[in-house]
Amino acid sequence: MAGQSVVIVGAGQAGSDAAAALRSQGHTGPITLIGEESHLPYQRPPLSKAYLYPTGGVGLVDLELRPASFYDTQGVELLRGEEAVRIDRETRSLGLRSGRELRYDSLVLATGARPRKLPVPGAERPGVFVLRGADDAEALRQRLAEPDRTLNVVVIGAGFIGLELASTATRSGHRVTVVEAQPRVLQRALTEEMSDWLTAEHRSRGVRLLLRREVAELLGDGSGPVRAVRLGDGEELPADLAVVGIGVLPNVDLAVRAGLAVGDGILVDEHLRTSDPAIFAIGDCARFPSRQAGRPMRLESVQNASDQARCVAAAICGTPEPYTALPWFWSEQYGHRLQIAGLTAGHDRTVLLGHPAQARFSVLCFREGRLIGAESVNRAADHGIVRRLLTSGAELTPEQVAVPGFDLKDLNRQLV
Ligand code: FAD
Repeated sequence: MAGQSVVIVGAGQAGSDAAAALRSQGHTGPITLIGEESHLPYQRPPLSKAYLYPTGGVGLVDLELRPASFYDTQGVELLRGEEAVRIDRETRSLGLRSGRELRYDSLVLATGARPRKLPVPGAERPGVFVLRGADDAEALRQRLAEPDRTLNVVVIGAGFIGLELASTATRSGHRVTVVEAQPRVLQRALTEEMSDWLTAEHRSRGVRLLLRREVAELLGDGSGPVRAVRLGDGEELPADLAVVGIGVLPNVDLAVRAGLAVGDGILVDEHLRTSDPAIFAIGDCARFPSRQAGRPMRLESVQNASDQARCVAAAICGTPEPYTALPWFWSEQYGHRLQIAGLTAGHDRTVLLGHPAQARFSVLCFREGRLIGAESVNRAADHGIVRRLLTSGAELTPEQVAVPGFDLKDLNRQLV
């Protein structure tokens, strides 16, 4: 197996990490990594954070996952600006838009996801942005950097990207309104306690955060740039620019055309194998059986992309292990670091540790008396300890945590 040829479609976090993991796990055969973007594979998280500050001094080169020399020295053929358009499963070959055909023994689909489109009139106007790739971020950064002007920025969707963007735009001196259709921010991802804390934090910084409000139309003159956002109740929000952050759709077209099993994502088993045993899928595009959730799911995080990259490399190298890695995630808003360990959705009880008013606290989440995750603000130690507890399977009950004077660090010492 070590000498067989591996082709990876998608040169993002998962694809680039998979190429690296294959080499570090002993794969000696040819590896080809195909990316439709022209850039070297880069990290996306800073695109809605440090990269967006006009004077932040962060360039795309700072975000590269690996230098160009890595791909040369590791013998990874990196094809940039090339789109994979067809899989022939009979002959095990992949067709590229340029006409090139590549033979594979194992194919890894790491095609990521793309922003969901806002289904209202005016959504295609100039001045309406999305934020997924480096080119999106560069366009947005230039617009936010307009000298000596306070812009009216309307952010549509209070998910992680929308809220991070609201934070960076506010800190850059702009007037920001966030419109969210749900009753609270990050409703599906976070506990009510954390949603409420984030809402208060944004409002205290001057963001107008509108909940339970829907966007009806993006207004402008003729086909000209956006100048206002009209809500369902008729209110018009002035907008020099609007950013749509209403979630993503997995890139599954290639898999669908190849007849692979697809749901919300490319369906894979515990070894990340699709319905064709020679083809794997990893990262944002893959729907996998999650041990923690007890059901199939897709995750959109660096942790998941990187851990699945290592897992797929092991399967291809002939040492398969089921994918069981613990999910974790982070976000940054107004200089606060929010960290999530485990999957907190589905909790039936929470216990608070620390001090929300001082922006240093954790919300521990339990289901049926068992710890399932934690959300921490500026409490990195709590986050690390909860990750260790969840990974080791150590028991922690809400009653233990609720005892006055309880400190996670004491528990951590017992684990050593
Ligand atoms: P991607 O990184 O999207 O890579 C997929 C690549 O495949 C893309 O380059 C795409 O162009 C290419 N591709 C698709 N189809 C084809 C084809 N047919 N042929 C060739 N190439 C193709 N996660 C966190 O954990 N913490 C964060 O703070 C965080 N912040 C984020 C901020 C932003 C602005 C964004 C956009 C994402 C953020 N994420 C964060 C999520 C994280 O970046 C993603 O989960 C991760 O990048 C997924 O990696 P991936 O390789 O699966 O997909």
